[in-house]
Parts: sequence; C-alpha cells; structure tokens
Amino acid sequence: PSLRREGFSSIPNVTWNDVGGLSLIRKVFERYIVRRIKHPENYEELGINFEAGFLLFGPPGCGKTLIAKAVANEAGANFIHIKGPELLNKYVGESESEVRKIFARARTNSPCILFFDEVDALTTSRGKEGGRVVDSLLNQLLIELDGADDRQGVFVIGATNRIEVMDPAVLRPGRLGKKLYVPLPGSDERAAIMKAHARKKPIDADVDLDALARMERCNNLTGADLASLMNEAAMFTLEERLDLANKTGSISDTCSIKKSHFELALSKI
Ligand code: ATP
Repeated sequence: PSLRREGFSSIPNVTWNDVGGLSLIRKVFERYIVRRIKHPENYEELGINFEAGFLLFGPPGCGKTLIAKAVANEAGANFIHIKGPELLNKYVGESESEVRKIFARARTNSPCILFFDEVDALTTSRGKEGGRVVDSLLNQLLIELDGADDRQGVFVIGATNRIEVMDPAVLRPGRLGKKLYVPLPGSDERAAIMKAHARKKPIDADVDLDALARMERCNNLTGADLASLMNEAAMFTLEERLDLANKTGSISDTCSIKKSHFELALSKI
C-alpha cells in the first residue's frame, strides 16, 4: 500500500470501462499517449512530434482524475499523482528542487503519466496571488516542461477547475499545450456514467438507467454525484436486505438494486 501513496508511481486499476462518456478526450489520449507508448516505432518513423503536455479543465467531479488514471492503465504506464496545493504547502522553500525530483522520478519510472491535480495552485499568474514561492516553483515547472524532448515516455497531464487564473505561459504549445475541456455530462453521458458504475453492482431488471439519466432532476449532476447516487441506491438495497433478515432470521442476497432504491437515493441527492 505504501507504493500507492501520493507522489509514488504504480499502474492504476481504472480502465476505459470505468469512464462514462468523454469519448472525444479518450480518442485524443489514445492517439497521443496510449498508442505512442505501445507502438513508438510508428511515431518515430513518421517523424510525429512528441506531444507531452495536456491540460484537462472543467467543473469538479466530472472525471479528470479518472480519465488520467485510465490512460495510464490502458498504456501500461506508471502513474504519479501530485496535488498542486500540497506541493506548494509541503515544501515551502524547497519547492523548486521538489519539482526537479518529481520529474526525475517520472523519468526513472518511464513510461509514466505525471498527473498534476489542481495545477492552477502552482501556476497562478505571476505577481497576482502567490508571491515568490509560486514564482520560483512555476519557473522550475516551465523548465521541466520545456525539456520534453529529453524525457520521451513521460507525459504530463494537468487538471484544473480554474483555467482562467493560470499563467498563460504554462498553456503554450510544448508545455501543457493540448487543452481538453471536460464538461458536465449531458443525459447520454449520465447514462453511460451510471452504466459504468453499474457494472459491479446487481441491478434489477426493472431499472431503466437511460430513463433515470433523462429525468429532469438529474440535469445538473456531475459524474461524482452520479457515482454517489449509485452507491446510495445500493445502501438502500442493503437496508432492505437487513430488514428482511431481521424478519426471517437469515440474510439473503436475492434482493438486487431496485427502482424504488434509486428513487429513494434520488430524493437524498
Ligand atoms: P476534481 O476537479 O474535483 O478533482 P475530477 O474532474 O478530477 O474532479 P474525478 O475525481 O475524476 O473528478 O471524479 C470523482 C469520482 O466521480 C470518480 O472517482 C468517479 O467515481 C466519479 N466520476 C466522475 N466522472 C466520471 C465519469 N465520466 N465516469 C465515471 N465516473 C465518474
């Protein structure tokens, strides 16, 4: 378990099947990262530029972290998860050397996806909020991002809910240059997200996830909301099983997740 701590590398167990919707972003990552790692010779032979920096932006809870992990899994690459604000707070004074170490670790663990969550914390426009700590950290980050040609096999994915506060220098081509918007899901995507979470749950045949996803009260739900909806519905199923067990004296697993459980869960969200 220690290998899974933040900042350490391992191959995540999230696959494309766990991600609902986001098919365009998936295509981009397939093309620029997954296939490049699996079949580098084609890219070299055709002289295709090494695209090493990506930025996922959009509202919270819609799958930015999830898809970055799936990319690593599908490519068979290591995944290093760095949380922007923690890097900033933990290493005041030594932030530059920490950034250097992180990139060195990524090179050692290549092929590797280096994921910077809440990357805006590290890259707020110079002079605006952070002062000297952010500035020196940001400068070091830019140096490392510019060195992409020397670290083939290391791909950097940043994620943010606040692209507007980021220093444009970070967003230039060659740095986190490929910007991908991760939107709030529409009804088709909501259904896909619920189905992704339903894969590991016993869902009753009378449950129509597509119809659920089209309901008006689901309109503004994020992927994270839908994940907790699925979980809450399962909790109501558990309660029903336990009630039944109290009456009959034995616990049964015959009761699956029913429409009524989804309705209860929806009323809670
Ligand atoms: P934040 O900006 O808050 O970090 P995020 O966009 O990185 O949010 P995730 O951490 O990827 O969001 O999503 C949180 C959880 O919500 C996931 O672990 C997953 O259970 C669920 N989820 C979000 N989006 C999706 C999706 N597209 N498909 C399946 N599950 C999703």
